[in-house]
Amino acid sequence: IYVKHPTGYYEPGVHTKYVEEQLDTDTVPLNGGILVKILAISSDPYMRHRMRDENIPLFAPPLKIGEPLDNFSVGKVIRSEDPAYAPGDYVSGYFTFENYVVHPGNITHVFKFCTKIPKLPGLPMSAFVGILGMPGKTAYQGWLFAKEKAKTSKTLYISVAAGAVGTFLIEYVKTIHPHLKIIASAGTPAKIDLLKSIGADVAFNYKETDIAKVLAEHGPIDIYWDNASGSTLDAALCNMSTFGLIVSCGAISSYNEDQGAVKHFEKVFERSLSIHGFIVGIGDEAKRALVEFEKEIPPLVLAGKIKLREHRFYGLKSAEQALRSVHTGENFGKAVVIVDEE
Ligand code: NDP
Repeated sequence: IYVKHPTGYYEPGVHTKYVEEQLDTDTVPLNGGILVKILAISSDPYMRHRMRDENIPLFAPPLKIGEPLDNFSVGKVIRSEDPAYAPGDYVSGYFTFENYVVHPGNITHVFKFCTKIPKLPGLPMSAFVGILGMPGKTAYQGWLFAKEKAKTSKTLYISVAAGAVGTFLIEYVKTIHPHLKIIASAGTPAKIDLLKSIGADVAFNYKETDIAKVLAEHGPIDIYWDNASGSTLDAALCNMSTFGLIVSCGAISSYNEDQGAVKHFEKVFERSLSIHGFIVGIGDEAKRALVEFEKEIPPLVLAGKIKLREHRFYGLKSAEQALRSVHTGENFGKAVVIVDEE
């Protein structure tokens, strides 16, 4: 249950609380919908955005004080009054943080949806909140803006590269544009090793290194995938090549605290840069991208070209720790709460 808006970092037990209530899964009214046993819940950085005053407009709906949190999840249908679903079906949806959820069934809205998903060989269902879910779709949709430019580019810099979006992007880009030199940054030595092992040509720890210096040495940067904003974006702006492209995906350095201003915005006109921002799943472009994603990505995942890397938190109660981990950097791979057995 969401109980208080944070200022600064979200704290388990302070801004959310865990409560237990009994639900009779045999008799709970479904009102024409379905009863879903939740298997896995995603923990994503943007959840911090949702912890805010309801009157401040943003792309995602704010969490409401006194109500359960919700996010991208996967589950199994236990009972159904909707002819489109049968018990035993696996579903992906935007569900509340509970063990069992009653859902109205077929909704397509990005922050309310529910849709059937297949069981794929060798993959846990939690893959549908990671490489086959929102973070994978984010990397795929955003890269469509860079795909054409990538053909004639030499260098790509990715910040927050060891996260769910960044690791997908590195492996995907290495598959379709092997000529690109990938420069990647993350915050621990283990994450730097991971980045090198999955195809980053240059990997560095942004906490211990002068970002601008590394980019000057290995750049100029033709494409910058910005997951960080703040001082990281500033360092990138100063090292972009003329006609460079910045894909603005996220701004995690500003979600909890102010980590540096963008001081060199003038580089945008000085170097004729383009900036393309986007939100996954929003807009017609996104809808087209998702159709392509379904065709192109599952075969790459099944062939092991894009690998599942999860940081698993076990039990519904661990959702609080999972939510915090993506801001402290504790997660090594996609942060996911494993709620129940498949
Ligand atoms: P993950 O949840 O996998 O990982 C988050 C990582 O961010 C942490 O592990 C930590 O790693 C890093 N981090 C935390 N604070 C900072 C900081 N101040 N500066 C730099 N890195 C920091 O992340 P995702 O891959 O899911 O998300 C990456 C970005 O993409 C986020 O900005 C997110 O908001 C954005 N996003 C945007 C979407 C869109 O539609 N535009 C959709 C999904 C994600 P480390 O140890 O390296 O510091």
